[in-house]
Amino acid sequence: MSNQNQVRAKKHLGQHFLRDENIAKKIADTLTLQGYKDVLEIGPGMGILTKYLLKKDIKTHVIEIDTESVEYLKNNYLNLSDRIYEKDFLKYDLTEVFKEQPFAIIGNFPYNISSQIVFKTLEMRHQIPEFSGMFQKEVAQRICSKEGSKIYGILSVLTQAFYDAEYLFTVPPSVFNPPPKVDSGVLLLKRKESFTLPCDEALFFKVVKTGFQQRRKTLRNSLKTLNLSDNLKANTIFGQRPEQLSVSQFIELTSLIENDQN
Ligand code: SAH
Repeated sequence: MSNQNQVRAKKHLGQHFLRDENIAKKIADTLTLQGYKDVLEIGPGMGILTKYLLKKDIKTHVIEIDTESVEYLKNNYLNLSDRIYEKDFLKYDLTEVFKEQPFAIIGNFPYNISSQIVFKTLEMRHQIPEFSGMFQKEVAQRICSKEGSKIYGILSVLTQAFYDAEYLFTVPPSVFNPPPKVDSGVLLLKRKESFTLPCDEALFFKVVKTGFQQRRKTLRNSLKTLNLSDNLKANTIFGQRPEQLSVSQFIELTSLIENDQN
């Protein structure tokens, strides 16, 4: 199409360009297209995934921090040009684009900011019914892991409180340029549509984060800073370690703490 040179991969932007068309298509096909008319791709790079999104019955938007990639996209995807945002996903106020409308998120993400991408998604979850992304394999597995597992942690509990998380498939380093050092994994998050958190949200986040700061200790110890009553701490749930609690038990725990503080 265009004879413009390829984008040169920059390490500080976490650029590992996918070069396998089948995998790009497979990632684009993970979207169910249910419950939204717009999709936002984070970090499109040279658009290998974008190309397959544009074939779908959905309006594709992309947000890309790298000027060189943005130039490339503008030259090669002419009908996308007014939906290319040269911004930092983590900082940009997405309601400027989507107002109150729902949109899905997709991307082969820069691994150094993948946790922050998930946290921002959780904050905006009321507008994000679906999220499909490629992460470092270990991070994707962590997000989808259940209680009792060694990798179960803050991201697992907070994500699964609001989304059903499914690990889809593993992608080897060889299909990227330059190849990353580790395997990658694609996961799909689908929002739990009939769910509202029955406890205070800020307190829930605080309990989960504080609990996991010392994952080897019982919750009685790790939640000391929350100044809980002795009466409350006598409850057997506090004798457990954070990694033993399911998502719904974390919600119960938060409700107990909330009532104790009132
Ligand atoms: N999706 C492309 C590129 C993957 S590399 C592919 O699969 O080939 C990750 C991309 O994320 C790069 O293009 C990088 O410039 C972009 N990126 C890095 N940090 C970003 C941020 N904060 N906001 C938006 N894009 C970012």
